[in-house]
Amino acid sequence: MMKPLLASLLLLAASASAQVPESGRWQELTFNPDEVDASMEDRYIDRTVDLAAAGKLDEDRKLLARVRYISAELIRVAIELKPEAAQWQWEVHTTSDPEIDAICMAGGKILVGSAFVRQLALTDGELATLLAHEVAHVVAEHPRETLSEALLLNRFPAVPLDVVVARLDSDLSLQIRLSQLSSLQESEADQLGMVLAHRAGWAADDMVSFYRKLGEGERAALVSSAYPASASRLSMAKGMARLFGD
Ligand SMILES: [Zn+2]
Repeated sequence: MMKPLLASLLLLAASASAQVPESGRWQELTFNPDEVDASMEDRYIDRTVDLAAAGKLDEDRKLLARVRYISAELIRVAIELKPEAAQWQWEVHTTSDPEIDAICMAGGKILVGSAFVRQLALTDGELATLLAHEVAHVVAEHPRETLSEALLLNRFPAVPLDVVVARLDSDLSLQIRLSQLSSLQESEADQLGMVLAHRAGWAADDMVSFYRKLGEGERAALVSSAYPASASRLSMAKGMARLFGD
């Protein structure tokens, strides 16, 4: 019986409190960031390899160049807020897979769906707002926080990260128990994303217009129930824009 106890003690020792940049919210983070980044990198590689094999990776070279150009400045600003992000192996790709809107995985792995960008006819400033939202999730360490919370909710003594990652994909009741955290993270990524976009030099009008387009497309509601209602996202964007004063 020593083993599980020892494992729990090790887990407690590894658990750390951290603060989200800008929002100042405290988080309990259990898993080691390097371990999370390595696991997400594996998933990103698997995903991009599969997409490339299906002929769905980076076919739109013009969009890829746009996304990389806009991301570069956002990444620079992200590193100002979170210095560890300078060590991440940032990667930026696009895909024509219509299932993918935009994601940024832990460790700075970005994937943008060309169908989504085309459907909303995103201008550069609006695309920057979308990218900034995704970058904000990893600056705020949301993926690691979700995995840590999943571990705590299930009261596992200590299970490997891969097991928790697989559980998150497949366990609906766990996803439901995490939905409150997910909603909080989405609102936080909206706000922190706007701060990132603002610091990268994008106009507040572009950000407001991105959230207006999302609402008009009603696309946000289809992506995930964790997203705040589009009307409240738009009022958040307008409120933040007033703070920026442009
Ligand atoms: Zn999000």
